[in-house]
Amino acid sequence: MEKGSDEKLVEHLQEVIYRKLFLEEKIAYFSMEIGLEDGIPTYSGGLGILAGDTVRSSADLRLPLVAVTLISKKGYFRQEITKSGIQSEHPEEWDPSKFMTLLPVDVTVKIQDRDVKIKAWLYEVKSLTGGAIPVLFLDTDVEGNTPEGREITFFLYGRDERYRLKQEIVLGIGGVRMLDALGFKIRRYHMNEGHSSLLALELLRRYEMDIDKVRDLCIFTTHTPIEVAHDTFPYEIVKEIMGAFIPLETLKKLGGQERLNMIRLALNLSEYINGVAKRHEYTSKRMFPGYEIHTITNGIHSYTWTCESFRKIYNKYLLGWVNEPELLVRVDVIPDEEIWQAHREAKGALIDYINKTTDTGMDYDTLTIGFARRATEYKRADLIFSDTEKLRKVDRKGKMQMVFAGKAHPKDESGKRIIREVFGYIEKLKDEIKIVYLEDYGIGLAAKLISGVDLWLNTPLPPQEASGTSGMKAAHNGVINFSVLDGWWVEGWIEGVTGWAIGPHPDEVLSDEERKIRELDDLYNKLEYVIVPMFYQRRDAWITMMKNSIGKIAYYFNSHRMMRRYVTEAYF
Ligand SMILES: *Cc1c(COP(=O)(O)O)cnc(C)c1O
Repeated sequence: MEKGSDEKLVEHLQEVIYRKLFLEEKIAYFSMEIGLEDGIPTYSGGLGILAGDTVRSSADLRLPLVAVTLISKKGYFRQEITKSGIQSEHPEEWDPSKFMTLLPVDVTVKIQDRDVKIKAWLYEVKSLTGGAIPVLFLDTDVEGNTPEGREITFFLYGRDERYRLKQEIVLGIGGVRMLDALGFKIRRYHMNEGHSSLLALELLRRYEMDIDKVRDLCIFTTHTPIEVAHDTFPYEIVKEIMGAFIPLETLKKLGGQERLNMIRLALNLSEYINGVAKRHEYTSKRMFPGYEIHTITNGIHSYTWTCESFRKIYNKYLLGWVNEPELLVRVDVIPDEEIWQAHREAKGALIDYINKTTDTGMDYDTLTIGFARRATEYKRADLIFSDTEKLRKVDRKGKMQMVFAGKAHPKDESGKRIIREVFGYIEKLKDEIKIVYLEDYGIGLAAKLISGVDLWLNTPLPPQEASGTSGMKAAHNGVINFSVLDGWWVEGWIEGVTGWAIGPHPDEVLSDEERKIRELDDLYNKLEYVIVPMFYQRRDAWITMMKNSIGKIAYYFNSHRMMRRYVTEAYF
């Protein structure tokens, strides 16, 4: 029987979509974590959000990319904090079938001499431009696997070293096999951090140990500016879990003599290596002498991280900004009152949210300072409380209120201590300064916070912030940055124009004590003598700086620019 023309059309379209999704030669982007939407808790912080923004911009720009990650079926964790600041962690179970489709294909990897079966869920990131990026979530919770095998893809960054190595086998080796099994043709493999380095070993086996061939295929983006944070494994564990996947001699040559270092492995097996901010390139070159390291400074997905009220005025005055964020350079065509009004709306929404969920009683007109990111020691959430007398003095000049949020990794005791300390200061200052710490920081809360405060505070210990991205999100919403000069801010900062610096320029060589003194001086003096007076008495100047944040930061620090750079410098 003849098929109806509608049916034929549908078949034709399906074929086109299939070819586009699977058959075109692609860049395979591997990331242990990815932040796609609020209901999919497969990220812990900036690294995962960056992966999500990479995919979103790739969809908008219609780049041929496929992303590979783990399903993390029990999430990272859901955070609860007691009144005294003690964090507890709860599994965040979620149902992949609500968001994605299980593909009818499986592959296996060998772990402790046993086959572990892997399946993949397909999630599609679709853009209004017609672009679509497949994201494959690997899952070992599959019939036929042992209970131990089924748990490998449960917890993002969970449990112990052995568990982590198994995850990396599934991600790196399983990921390459899955792409093959699905018929993807891969032009290059891009490793977002070292967690997926084992993919290069799988390629090495495939190309009969031809290192040059593998290097030609691999791109590595490093995000970790300090050695101790590197992902490494003792060789006894490697042997126990991977067997003789690659002869030990070769492995040691490529991944380090003492321990298997996933960063080393990626460095040695990638032709193109980059850091994520210019300052980070400098730190990385010192940490890894002998490697050619480039820079592609991070960016964020403009549309995703711009709140509704700012989207509206950008649409009105800068139509096309969504897929061409460079247009934000023309922000000066927007009248000041409309910028301020858009900000009032975003701030109102945040204050309402805070007052609904807590008993802080914040108000709309007070200078509001935000600080939210992973709670880990180097980010120094407690730095602003170093001298509470000075903070009180600032507050007497002009009222302020503060919002904090952030999760500490379950095993990060110093991160948890910092949360407790911030809670201590909240209690100590409660009769003077309204301060709140919001629970369970994630994509949705980040979007509210980053757009709803007046000032975005960032106080990492240099040089540990490879890039940082939350300040770029703030800038997209006319929120002004007040930050230590590390990571991206070294490139985004123009004093008194795009924001303010805390502490010395990284080119100044100072002892740790001297630097800290300079940081605290800037922190309190700039708040008291520059920021607070400008906010309350020179609103015009404040709005000019809001516009500069949009026109001189957001127009550049976005993931559309970043992906165009990856395309021209790394991918092709
Ligand atoms: C942007 C973002 C981060 C990264 O923040 P940094 O200040 O760059 O560390 C972390 N978590 C969430 C939920 C984010 O949206």
